[in-house]
Amino acid sequence: MYFFKNEFVDAKDVQISPDDRGYYFGDGIYEVFRVYQGQLYECEAHMQRLLRTAAEVRLQLPYSNEAFVQILNELIQKNGLNEGTIYLQITRGEAPRAHPFPTQAEPIVLAYSNEVKRPLATIENGIKAVTQPDIRWLRCDLKTLNLLPNVLAKQAALDHGVQEVVLHREGTVTECSASNLMIVKNQTLYTHPANHLILHGITRAVVLRIAHTLGIPVKEEAFTTGQLLLADEAFITGTTVEITPLLEIDGQAIGTGAPGPLTQTLQREFEKTFLN
Ligand code: PMP
Repeated sequence: MYFFKNEFVDAKDVQISPDDRGYYFGDGIYEVFRVYQGQLYECEAHMQRLLRTAAEVRLQLPYSNEAFVQILNELIQKNGLNEGTIYLQITRGEAPRAHPFPTQAEPIVLAYSNEVKRPLATIENGIKAVTQPDIRWLRCDLKTLNLLPNVLAKQAALDHGVQEVVLHREGTVTECSASNLMIVKNQTLYTHPANHLILHGITRAVVLRIAHTLGIPVKEEAFTTGQLLLADEAFITGTTVEITPLLEIDGQAIGTGAPGPLTQTLQREFEKTFLN
């Protein structure tokens, strides 16, 4: 079942209008939720990010926080979802193509679930990446539908035969195409500050919280691609990738070229917290 325009419907009954502003302008926002054992992971954090993005792009959400959570939980129940993801999108509505906000349109909500297993192979064995310039706009903290730069970046990685890209602005690392990036240097964790240049990842926040609990020093400071290469360890974080070791960048090994001990400690703690 899908949720579309105020009701639960079959996939075939999701009829998206060509006048949907999401379609014309990418004029909409979204969240991807993780479901473990039938439960929403970090639901409140996702909802707060959705609310913030909506406010920043001046999109009036059609439901309360509680009503959204109820829709998500009903979707989990109706689809018998145990392990997977839920995609939730809200566009500014349907109106003939014109840039100004439409005066009549109602926001359109779409939500559906996917059965997705945890990516255990890459969580254990790590991934490789190439660097690419970060060509996105200056509000990367907003989770909007405008993902063409992310799509191009991800495809560049695949074209280079690796799984991810590390984005940088003039040599300063921001994040990856759909995940945040952290490095370990001399037992300290470094990651880009949560400002307008990165998405404020839910798993990024979870990892910082875990690090804090374990007494691992954290510095929310930007680092360069050069510093990334000289790091002891690196890993990416995200709702679907969880904590995935990053082993190689532009063909050069990071640290020993194997998943690092601090990365593995954080992975173990993450599993203990969310998967027991
Ligand atoms: N950065 C970008 C650009 C993303 O698309 C994502 C995925 N939502 C993340 C970081 C990771 O965020 P989260 O941990 O909330 O999934």
